[in-house]
Amino acid sequence: MPKVIPGERWQLAADLYSKGESLAGIARAVGVSVTAVRKHRDDDGWVRELDTAEAVVQAFKPEQTQPVSELMGVLSEEIVASMAADERIAELERRLAEEQARASLLAERVEDQSSVKEVHLYENPQQVEEYYGSQRIEDMVSKEFGRLNIERLKQGLERIDPKSFPEEYAAARERILQEFVSRRTKWVDPSANVRVVKMWNPHTKTMWQCPVEDQFNNEKMFRGAAVLKYKAKGHKLLSPYMCQRMNCWAFAAVEDGVMKYRGYCSPAHMQSDLYIAESAKAGVSTSGATG
Ligand SMILES: [Zn+2]
Repeated sequence: MPKVIPGERWQLAADLYSKGESLAGIARAVGVSVTAVRKHRDDDGWVRELDTAEAVVQAFKPEQTQPVSELMGVLSEEIVASMAADERIAELERRLAEEQARASLLAERVEDQSSVKEVHLYENPQQVEEYYGSQRIEDMVSKEFGRLNIERLKQGLERIDPKSFPEEYAAARERILQEFVSRRTKWVDPSANVRVVKMWNPHTKTMWQCPVEDQFNNEKMFRGAAVLKYKAKGHKLLSPYMCQRMNCWAFAAVEDGVMKYRGYCSPAHMQSDLYIAESAKAGVSTSGATG
């Protein structure tokens, strides 16, 4: 470390600082502590010599942050023509993915403004397949056969290849699809006949059941209080409307634009509504209650 006299020491330090040297580097070069360097920098107002902001950005801006359209614009036709076909396809695919991302973001924003959440669920095996995709269903069937083979192995039986049993394969597939359809009403507990309105929670991005019986919230005093309370918090009603029976995730039956079973999916679920059952017993008109 060369001996530096105090006046020169701080001049050297300021120079180093202006060239971009770190505080620790300066401290080592002039033989003082980092704290002393920092104090001098602040007291004497040292500044770093920097390129203009524009030059810095230009130098460090990664190419991929440029919009694709610009990027394509700067590529001369000659270069584009010489690009390998698969490169061009990859580029087009990337642009398409970007467009799709933009479109879905836009759709999400539009949806945020709406008080209704569109739900896309299945009502029959074909729709289950569309909803989950054929590949996923195939995977589930394969797992089903996998389980079967484990059982067979335990019993000392030969492993079977699903491909050799097309009928069994088709049957397993159908069972799985049907299971999905049945699940929508499978968990309804006959003893729990709480009336609910299915809602969408935008924070957890899940459907949930808002109880709308008198004993909950302020429902007795103010019909719809519970739903309104959650709507004010950004929750949405589902569209299509879902059955009001607790744990039933089937859509409410609609006929000619009218709720066929007063907000329920079926006569059975409608009859489980105590109020509707009482009114029916008392002979009160239950128009639309039959079907
Ligand atoms: Zn139902």
